[in-house]
Amino acid sequence: MSFSGILGQDRTVGRLRALIESGRVPPAMIFHGPPGVGKFLTALEFAKALNCSHVAHREKPPAPPPPDPDDLFAAAAPAAPPPEPEPEPGPETHADCSDSCGKCLSCLQAASGAHPDIRVIDTSFQAALLEEKETSNLKIDTMREMTRWAQQKAMLSPWKVFIVRDAEAMGGQAQNALLKTLEEPPPGTVVIMTVHRKTSLISTILSRSSLIDFAPLPAAVLRDLLRAQGAEPAQTDSLAALGAGSMEKAAEAASFLKRVSALHPGDPARAFKFAAGLPRDSHKAREEVKTLLDLLLSRARLAWRKADGPAKARLTALLRRTLELRRMSERNVSYSLLLETALLESERAGIPLEDLIKRG
Ligand SMILES: [Zn+2]
Repeated sequence: MSFSGILGQDRTVGRLRALIESGRVPPAMIFHGPPGVGKFLTALEFAKALNCSHVAHREKPPAPPPPDPDDLFAAAAPAAPPPEPEPEPGPETHADCSDSCGKCLSCLQAASGAHPDIRVIDTSFQAALLEEKETSNLKIDTMREMTRWAQQKAMLSPWKVFIVRDAEAMGGQAQNALLKTLEEPPPGTVVIMTVHRKTSLISTILSRSSLIDFAPLPAAVLRDLLRAQGAEPAQTDSLAALGAGSMEKAAEAASFLKRVSALHPGDPARAFKFAAGLPRDSHKAREEVKTLLDLLLSRARLAWRKADGPAKARLTALLRRTLELRRMSERNVSYSLLLETALLESERAGIPLEDLIKRG
């Protein structure tokens, strides 16, 4: 894949390509926008294009530094394969100097996640680094280790790129530890933070970073992506509508549809069984519950506008209760219990489970 594989973000990709072409790459960048619109994929493509060794204007990469026995990053990261000789410029040279070739060693390493100079910092990387169970937050020790590694020379490539994925997972102390790298960025180092809301980062990080915004995906792009992932043609329109510009939300909606269709319509334990199908990962479970509660809220508001008499009173109570559950979903609670409560109350108010994932 290259930048051409990033769909629905033409303006943003154009801006990034112009940065690569100009050679004036900011040391810190914040890719912000809704979840599931391609921020992380674009960050990977950006890193790949920066380090592609077939691009005509690249300088020869510096020699790798001697291994550091205390380098926890090197221990946690996959071992780098031995460097191959640099390809001679000539017919192989890639004409487009703002995109990757997808064929050189650097591009292949980046595509397989084994590039020694492109590091993705997220909670699963952290678990390997600190040799502990995966947690939902990025810790100060991880960011300190990243700062230390940023001070070292790149191993094979012109640029050392850190992608801090879902950077809102950093608490205040972890953000302050990252700030050290951003205050005095080592030459040739780029830190990209992907984040849903830029306001989840402290102002001192925001002021030192270039903001790159990502828009919701157009419905046509969502439909194409859903079809490519094997969604039923009859469902792509409604899934794209439920996705509301986010492939992550559309994929969640597809999973809801699958789970609902597996339940028997007359089963009194449907809400319980549906809630029991939430992902085990608590972060994913919370996101799914939030999506379902948002769907329930919009469905209940629609029904409320058309209702009168006792039905309207029931829906008013449901709306109040769902708003309360939605607020609770931001905290550490039992997400399956919370979802089960919401589904039982919505069925009682006349909104069955199936209606939540209907289009319109
Ligand atoms: Zn390449």
